Amino acid sequence: MTHIFGVIGNPIAHSLSPVMHEAAFKELKLDARYIPYQVESDKVGEAVQGIRGLGLSGVNVTIPHKEAVIEYLDELDPLAAKLGAVNTIVHDRKNDKLIGYNTDGEGFYRSLVPELRKPLQDNLILIIGAGGAARGVAITLAQKGVKQITIANRTKEKAEKLAADCGGNTRAMSLNGVQAKLTEFDVVVNCTSIGMSPNVGQMPMSLETLSRDTLVSDLIYNPNKTRFLSEAEKKSARTLNGMGMFIQQGAIAFELWTGLQAPVTIMRRAVLEKLKEVK
Ligand code: NAP
Repeated sequence: MTHIFGVIGNPIAHSLSPVMHEAAFKELKLDARYIPYQVESDKVGEAVQGIRGLGLSGVNVTIPHKEAVIEYLDELDPLAAKLGAVNTIVHDRKNDKLIGYNTDGEGFYRSLVPELRKPLQDNLILIIGAGGAARGVAITLAQKGVKQITIANRTKEKAEKLAADCGGNTRAMSLNGVQAKLTEFDVVVNCTSIGMSPNVGQMPMSLETLSRDTLVSDLIYNPNKTRFLSEAEKKSARTLNGMGMFIQQGAIAFELWTGLQAPVTIMRRAVLEKLKEVK
């Protein structure tokens, strides 16, 4: 029997998840397909019930449905519950249960660790943004025991709420306030949508005072190098774009669905080839 997986979102036509997962299925010779489903906001409940009704094995969930799917699921992984957002649904067919997970933060963590020069727990990390992606990254890093997390966001109240949800040694600051302290951070992560195509000339904050020892990351991978990362390179700092996070969040979903280790190199190659094709 062919196992069917998919992704629900709106819009969905440009999602790179189908090409990434189909490459993994092919590599591991799995009888499986991965289909993009465009779902309107008033049809989210029916779409989730469709997973059960049609016997899909699992789906990813993307913008704008990550929060809305929750009320239709049977169980939530504790991290997804804390985040209030789901990006992966596993259909446990034996027990007829739909279980929600969120693999975004763990995906970022997996992409970040190989780039660090000291153990994760010893780093001072600045997160810019307090939306859905920032939430996943900040809460996951806080749970891993990062020494100190600072959250700066245009809407400061959202940064304060996220810092409180992270607990531990997490604080909120204004974007202006954090500018003067830039040299203190080991890692700076742009978790806002600033710099994303087509607004490629924009940056979430100035990197004028950046130290070359700071690792600068951007969750955006289209463009592949945002202006934020280009400016960091001009300061001779190391950079990390959002491609690794995207691949790793998909790899974790693949592992949850199949119980197999994801062929990460093959998945990455398939995504990069697809991106070249569409450019
Ligand atoms: P979101 O929930 O809409 O949050 C957007 C964030 O950007 C908020 O903090 C918002 O600040 C800030 N922002 C937006 N426009 C701004 C502006 N003009 N000036 C200052 N701040 C601004 O979006 P999200 O889901 O967190 O996604 C954020 C980014 O992460 C997107 O670029 C997305 O593509 C990327 N992402 C990447 C991956 C990956 O796998 N690599 C996964 C998920 C997301 P306010 O709170 O003040 O509005």
